Amino acid sequence: MGKEGRLELLVGNMFGGKSTELIRRINRYEVLRKKVTLFKHSFDQRYGTEEVCSHDGLKREAILVNTSQDLERSLPLETEVVGIEEVQFFDSGIVPLCYALSKLGRTVLAAGLLKDFRGELFPFSDGKRNIGDLISMADKIDQFNAYCTYENGQGICGRDAAWIQRFYDSEVAPYDSPTILPGGKEAYAPRCREHFVFYLENRHLRL
Ligand SMILES: [Zn+2]
Repeated sequence: MGKEGRLELLVGNMFGGKSTELIRRINRYEVLRKKVTLFKHSFDQRYGTEEVCSHDGLKREAILVNTSQDLERSLPLETEVVGIEEVQFFDSGIVPLCYALSKLGRTVLAAGLLKDFRGELFPFSDGKRNIGDLISMADKIDQFNAYCTYENGQGICGRDAAWIQRFYDSEVAPYDSPTILPGGKEAYAPRCREHFVFYLENRHLRL
């Protein structure tokens, strides 16, 4: 029997704790003396390394890349565990790449957003595949929700938030606004089923 690879996905909401869990799992592999490399997608064409920080202070150095091809090219041969942060920002080539790496005996741990602001599966940057295609390739999937920050006179809702709402000047963003807006003026807030404003344009809601 050869080396046993696997693909583990950590999906969920912004503010849901995916990064913390990714770093925790990667650190654990390092304790087991596995050769680990962490990648992160960089929006702004920067290359080099960057500290990936989770909201509760865990940190790790990551290699910044912009495409699945870059990731493949930058992967040290001896790497046994591949971590990928912000996997939803990659092109669709990330799906066959994660498949190939796991099939060839690597452990791949990928963290990313499950849904976009429309409440639909997060599309990769070229729109050919979405995060659901990566889910179908995974051995293990964990979901990390945030809590709903909707506020009324009585305080904050606090329920499990499986959606993220985008706002422009406190108005819910139009359905046809772009999926990714680097450096935009929009704001995001985690929302529960009751407080997320669903879009009727969502094709899954049409009967
Ligand atoms: Zn709520």
